Amino acid sequence: MKALLFLLFTFLFLQAFGQQSLETVFETSSGKATATYDEVIAYYRHLTDQSPFIQMKEMGMTDSGLPLHLVILDLEKEFDFEKSFEKGKAIILVNNGIHPGEPDGIEASMMLMRDYAMNKEKHSLIENTILAIVPVYNIGGALNRNSVTRVNQNGPEEYGFRGNARNYDLNRDFIKADTRNTLAFYDIFHHVNPDIFIDTHVSNGADYQYNITHLATQYCKMGGAMGTYIENEFTPKLESIIKDKGNEIVPYVNVFNTAPDKEGFSQFLDNPRYSTGYTTLFHTLGFMIETHMLKPFDRRVQATYDFLETILELAQSDGRKIRALKAEQGERFQAGDTVALSWRLSKGQYKEIAFKGYVGEMIDSKVTGKSRLLYGRNRPFTATIPYYNYFTPNRETVIPKAYIVPQGWHNVIDRLLANRVVFHRVKGDTSIVVEGYSIEKYNSTARPYEGHFSHKNVGLKVFNDTLTFRAGDYIFPTGQFAGRYLVETLEPEATDSFFSWNFFDTILQQKEGFSPYVFEEVAWHLLKNDAELKQAFEAKKKINSEFAENWYAQLDFIYKHSEYYEKAHLTYPVYRLIK
Ligand SMILES: [Zn+2]
Repeated sequence: MKALLFLLFTFLFLQAFGQQSLETVFETSSGKATATYDEVIAYYRHLTDQSPFIQMKEMGMTDSGLPLHLVILDLEKEFDFEKSFEKGKAIILVNNGIHPGEPDGIEASMMLMRDYAMNKEKHSLIENTILAIVPVYNIGGALNRNSVTRVNQNGPEEYGFRGNARNYDLNRDFIKADTRNTLAFYDIFHHVNPDIFIDTHVSNGADYQYNITHLATQYCKMGGAMGTYIENEFTPKLESIIKDKGNEIVPYVNVFNTAPDKEGFSQFLDNPRYSTGYTTLFHTLGFMIETHMLKPFDRRVQATYDFLETILELAQSDGRKIRALKAEQGERFQAGDTVALSWRLSKGQYKEIAFKGYVGEMIDSKVTGKSRLLYGRNRPFTATIPYYNYFTPNRETVIPKAYIVPQGWHNVIDRLLANRVVFHRVKGDTSIVVEGYSIEKYNSTARPYEGHFSHKNVGLKVFNDTLTFRAGDYIFPTGQFAGRYLVETLEPEATDSFFSWNFFDTILQQKEGFSPYVFEEVAWHLLKNDAELKQAFEAKKKINSEFAENWYAQLDFIYKHSEYYEKAHLTYPVYRLIK
């Protein structure tokens, strides 16, 4: 009997202790502190001990040498995304701590997981939903803890650093995938296959009254019925629900060093290098959120919590619709269709939004003696201002039937395969009629940006040829769910193409040349035997005096128009299958 009583007592004690210890570092510090990386993982481990509805998995390596984790809340305790998908459950993926100096989502997610797992009254609100959370994505940055690098941010006391273990900004790495974090993310993203994706941040930049702003997937860029749904249904519902919770939200205030006033502001364009730009390529509705750096940490965490809870509500009500739209979107990009490769803001079309700002004025700086911006935080205003969120295609292409990538370009192929792109391989050496590109022009950044001297303003010349591909070369048909991802990574003119991120830079350098004193004789014979070449050569001398004075340029012209000039130079080595 005594033993039984002892057991009962121990059980009750453990239960009480267990409940108590489910408070987070954020809560026990009265909203002043955020958990360290180890504390976050220990917290979730403890939570999985306390609740059968939560599971935590290791999901692949990061640059820090520690693996990513994925925490799953599933009331049916299956923890099997394929099964949940088949059952029609709405799947939400939340990515936290991509910038660990901005830990609001890390804290809000821990409390949300706990509250919805432990509180049975909340279970009916998520019976059709699976919540998957990456506790801390940038582990290396989270381990690099300090209290100074977010100079303008109002708490917490300590936090991680923006750069990862190799100082990459992971929120620019979604296409180039220089980091192990991104490769592990690909695995998580395609494994979870979310209907809704959320990436949590804290803002830099303008001042205004709101605790939180959102960067929705750019709806014109998403396009189709999904784009319309994001703009006309999902976002308005989201704004309305979160307002009822006491946290109004507006689009991210995309201005720098000016106060958003009657001029309004424009939407941030989430190109594929960013999280939601990447998820757009796989037809997934995504939001980055930015709480406001000047608001106290506890208010920001609450705003993030309110946002994530709102997403749970919308998943419950709109999950099936979002799933159907995603499937429809996956069919939208077919061979022969024209698609955009880059986008530009169109100021001709805008909408009006009610905006709660602070009056900004330019005053004399005590530091520089020049003028500086000062927000009057005691001078709040509410005004109707224009919000520019209409983008139109800048460059476009027609989708080919397939892309052929010779097997040597494994740096690109590895990334495509990591994104579970469907492919087949050339069976034996085969001649195939293809369309290809010569690179006519491009500009590169003068300084490294995220480890690259990336290219833009790419100019192409199209050619058609019959080329021999080798057994084992890769054919990627575009008629697949990842078709849009293929187009926007393999078309050199696309904003975040592999070409722009330097994956093909070796073709930009000529490998063989000529010795002028020897080539002189060859050039003379070439001109003598090729009337067309001679005519082009003489014509160029006539119209271009610089050319007429430059003997090397003249020999080089003849060389580049001869069979001696290597084909690989400036020939983009990915080919389009049209027929
Ligand atoms: Zn951020």
